[in-house]
Amino acid sequence: MNSDTVYLLGYKINTFDFDSAVEYANSISGQVVTINPEMMSNPDMKEIVNSAELVIPDGIGVQLGLMICGHNVKRIAGIEFAHKMLSEAEKNRQSVALIGAKPEVIEKAKENLQKEFPNLYITYVQDGYFKDTERVLNDIKIRQPRLVLCALGSPKQEQFIAQAKKLLPDALFIGVGGSFDVWSGIVKRAPKIFQVLCLEWLYRTIKEPQRFKRIFPTLPLFVLRVLKERFVPKGV
Ligand code: UDP
Repeated sequence: MNSDTVYLLGYKINTFDFDSAVEYANSISGQVVTINPEMMSNPDMKEIVNSAELVIPDGIGVQLGLMICGHNVKRIAGIEFAHKMLSEAEKNRQSVALIGAKPEVIEKAKENLQKEFPNLYITYVQDGYFKDTERVLNDIKIRQPRLVLCALGSPKQEQFIAQAKKLLPDALFIGVGGSFDVWSGIVKRAPKIFQVLCLEWLYRTIKEPQRFKRIFPTLPLFVLRVLKERFVPKGV
């Protein structure tokens, strides 16, 4: 398997290609983080990311940051990675839990996934607006799924997973952000041309202008911090 572990602004990132990341994920348990510049602008995330078992570079921002630091790494779209892991779970007859998104969204996503993967063994479904975290942790502890996809937005999903992985030492947890919204059919992924040009973020911002404040000033500040780390001697 072809991977290095590199650090960007003190955050660990594994530089697998897509197929190697899938192969590696099949061989481990624990937390998969699909990291983006927003997470790397939240100091509370550092410990969780650096304790995660697999950190994949999702998005053009992280790819650009890595490039500035001399690492030529291809990004892995979290949604595609999670989708592939569902097909692996079906193939390997492993049970799956889906946690997150609005109740009608997660139900529709489950229905669509079940159509796409008829032999997928979905043993637990929970929307993401629960109050009683202990109850949800207990539910998954009883069901013992192998794969848990968790869409609570960041940093909530990463914090939830960091807690849950201690209770299920054999499970693989992936924070999947808005993936259930897409799989439910309620939110459309950016057209292929935006994906190829790495401009999915622009498409989502046009569709949901309230996201603008999540990108600005986070993204330019992230690039400035990376440039500083790369080119300005320490202590200046
Ligand atoms: N979400 C949730 N519980 C919450 C907050 C968010 O289930 O308390 C869900 C939300 O409905 C959406 C997903 O988390 O399905 C991702 O939200 P967002 O688009 O903010 O995530 P991103 O991928 O941009 O971090």
